[in-house]
Amino acid sequence: MDLGIQGKRALVCASSKGLGLGCAEALAEAGVDLVMNARGSDALEAEAARLRSEHGVEVQAVVCDVTTAEGQAQVIESAQGVDILVTNAGGPPPGLWSDWDRDDFIEALDANMLTPIAFMKALLPGMIDKGWGRVVNITSQSVRAPIPALGLSNAARTGLTGYVAGTSRQVAPFGVNINNLLPGIHATDRADSLDGSVAAQQGISIDQARANRAATIPARRYGTRQEFGAACAFLCSKQAGFIVGQNILLDGGAGNMTM
Ligand code: NAP
Repeated sequence: MDLGIQGKRALVCASSKGLGLGCAEALAEAGVDLVMNARGSDALEAEAARLRSEHGVEVQAVVCDVTTAEGQAQVIESAQGVDILVTNAGGPPPGLWSDWDRDDFIEALDANMLTPIAFMKALLPGMIDKGWGRVVNITSQSVRAPIPALGLSNAARTGLTGYVAGTSRQVAPFGVNINNLLPGIHATDRADSLDGSVAAQQGISIDQARANRAATIPARRYGTRQEFGAACAFLCSKQAGFIVGQNILLDGGAGNMTM
């Protein structure tokens, strides 16, 4: 399918690995020029070079931490005038309700709620002026089915979801569509780290922790970054113009919900 976005320009935050990289790859394949970002430069520069050579698109790589004010300013300057914004950042650590104090919550809110909001606030006006835009926020299945050990993530991402529910309806009249993609478990470094915590807690190997988790998913496997990226690229497509303010779960059937 021609997604109708060839020649558009996208900012994909936190995109040297994992789900952000999956989105950058799928957008590059659709002919979209990119601003990519991560804190570490090696993987970022390598992936930017690969996407330039495989897809012939322009890719600008911005090395910084998007959760800081300085990092946001740097990325926003490079991304002025983008048609597409994909927000992403690392997820907060797991733990027990009694582990977390105010500073932990502020850090999680900064990374997973206030950072995407800052990017939307800075880049939505340019999309509104052009009468076309797409925003995809990478959130989590925890928004629909909160995960007990991820209280920081549950809290921050639910806040972002509430913000998007209102904002998406306010910008839709201008041809700008905001939606959230909710990953269930996908095979990335983040999943390895979560499985590592479970393995340590239960005294089992990481492979066993992974197999145990996969067995609870109707699809009996983890998702891939390519599947995730394809869903993101579709939400950014011309054809997705009637999808507004949705929370789309990609979880292999793990969450059993009607809504
Ligand atoms: P990942 O494999 O660990 O990749 C994270 C990417 O983001 C890397 O490119 C990393 O590069 C970059 N990054 C992290 N923090 C950053 C920051 N502050 N500023 C700029 N770049 C940053 O993670 P993932 O699995 O793709 O997860 C992406 C998001 O989806 C996370 O918020 C995660 O919690 C959420 N999620 C993932 C899953 C899953 O199963 N994978 C499920 C639910 C939710 P650098 O380290 O070089 O910065």
